[in-house]
Amino acid sequence: MTHRGSEEMTASDRARAGNRDEFKDECGVFGIYAHPEAANLTYLGLYALQHRGQESAGIVSSDNGKLYSQKGMGIVADVFSEDVLKRLNGSSAIGHVRYSTTGESHIENAQPFVIEYSRGSLAVAHNGNLVNAQFLRAEFEAYGAIFQSSMDTETIVHLIASCKDASIVDRITYALNRVKGSYCLLFLTDDMMIAARDPNGFRPLALGKLKGSWVVASETCAFDLIEAEYVREVEPGEILVISKSGLSSYKPFQKAEYTPCVFEFIYFARPDSTIFGRNVYNVRKSFGAMLAREHKVDADIVIPVPDSGVPAAIGYAQESGLPFELGLVRNHYVGRTFIEPKDSIRHFGVKIKLNAVKKIIQGKRVVVVDDSLVRGTTSRKIIKMIRGAGAKEVHLRISSPPTRCPCFYGIDTPRSEELIASSKGMEGIRDFVTADSIGYLSIKGLYDATGGAGRTFCDACFTGRYPVDATSVNEPPQLALFK
Ligand code: AMP
Repeated sequence: MTHRGSEEMTASDRARAGNRDEFKDECGVFGIYAHPEAANLTYLGLYALQHRGQESAGIVSSDNGKLYSQKGMGIVADVFSEDVLKRLNGSSAIGHVRYSTTGESHIENAQPFVIEYSRGSLAVAHNGNLVNAQFLRAEFEAYGAIFQSSMDTETIVHLIASCKDASIVDRITYALNRVKGSYCLLFLTDDMMIAARDPNGFRPLALGKLKGSWVVASETCAFDLIEAEYVREVEPGEILVISKSGLSSYKPFQKAEYTPCVFEFIYFARPDSTIFGRNVYNVRKSFGAMLAREHKVDADIVIPVPDSGVPAAIGYAQESGLPFELGLVRNHYVGRTFIEPKDSIRHFGVKIKLNAVKKIIQGKRVVVVDDSLVRGTTSRKIIKMIRGAGAKEVHLRISSPPTRCPCFYGIDTPRSEELIASSKGMEGIRDFVTADSIGYLSIKGLYDATGGAGRTFCDACFTGRYPVDATSVNEPPQLALFK
C-alpha cells in the first residue's frame, strides 16, 4: 500500500495502514486521589517515569465535576510549566508519558485521553497494547463511529460509552472483557479514580499511599520521588476503585496465567523500581552473574553498554572476579530531536551517544555486556569503537536470550525478519557484530536468576510462546533503534 504523507492522513487512515503509532504503546502512568497538590505530584511522578516514554506527556485533573487537561509533545519538562500546573485544579489527577523511538508522533495520540459521553467526563491513561483493537475499531466504524486518534486506547473509550450499564465500574468491566492484550489503565471521573490491570499482568502497576491519599504508578520509583509508601501491586485482573468511600477491589475477569513481561526486568523498567515482587537492579545483576557462569571468558576487564547494561555488567564482573570499568561513556544530552547527519558523515551515529575511554580499553581483552541484542547494528558499531580504542579482544555478552520474535504486548520491537537472532545462528551473529566471542543468557538462566521454580513470564520475544493469541495481528513495523 502506498502511504500518503502523515500530515495528509486521517487518524483512521493511519490505524488501517498499520501505522507505527499503534505499536509504540510502552508508556508510564501515574495517578493520585484526594491530595491538594494532585497535579504537582503527578508532574513529579511523571518525571520519575520519563524513561517509559518521551514522545508526549499529559496530566488530567478533576475538580468539582470538571476535568482539566494539559498534554503536549515531548518530555515532561517541555510540556509543563508552573502556570500550566496552576491551571490543573483539583485534588485528583492522572498522568501519562508515551514512548516513541523515531518516526511519526501526533498530539492526538497524547494521553490521558478525555471524552465527554452520556454520563459525564472521563479521562483514561493506558500502558500496554491491545491485540484486537483494530478489529473492534472496524466494528465501531462500520456503525459510523468517529475516532480521533490511532490509539488502541480509544477503542476502550468507545466500548465504555456504548455500554448500557449504569455504573462506570460495570461499563469498564464490559469494555475490558472485550479487549485482548496488555493494559494497565487509569481512569479519572469527576469523583473517582479507577485502576485496572489485565488478567495476565503483562505490565507493572503499583499501589501506594501518601499520607491519606492513594497513588498508583507504573513503577515504584515514582513513589520514592514523592515519598509515598508502597502498598502492593495492583493484581492481575483487578479493578481498583478509589473514591470518597475508600478503596474497593473487584476481580471481574476470567482468571488467566500470570505472565508478567520479563523484558521489563531486562531493559525497560528503572533499576531502582520494584516490579513483579523483585527489585529490578538486583534481578539485572543476577542476570549478569548467571551469564558469567554460563559464558566465562579469559579477559582483563568487564565494561557495560550504558545505561541499561550496567547492573548486568556489575553482576558479570563480580561473579567472574574481573575488574568492572566504565569503558564507554554515554552523552545524556542527546535530545530526541537529534538529526542524524546524512551521507558523507553518517558514520558518526552511535559516537554521538557513546564514546570509548581509550585509557581504560587500550591493550585490554574486553568483555562488553549489553542487556539485549535487537538488530545487532548498535553492537556492531560499539565493538568497532572499542577496537578503535585499542582493545586486543572484544567478547560480547548479552544478559538475555536471543530476541527472535516481535512483542505484541507493548514493547516496541522490529519485525521478526529484522531481529538478527531470527535469521542468524550464534556464529552468524558473532560474525555480524565482529566480536571475538559471543554469549547470551539461556532461558533457563533467565528463569533461575529471577527466582526459579514456579515463576512464569511472558517470554514471547525469546520463545515465540504468546500468552494471549496475537496471530490476527500484523507484525509491528520497524523499530528505529539508533537509526
Ligand atoms: P541493536 O544493536 O539494534 O541490537 O540494539 C540493541 C540495543 O537496543 C541494546 O543496547 C538495548 O539496550 C536497546 N534496546 C533493546 N530493546 C529496546 C527497545 N524496545 N527500545 C529501544 N532500545 C532497545
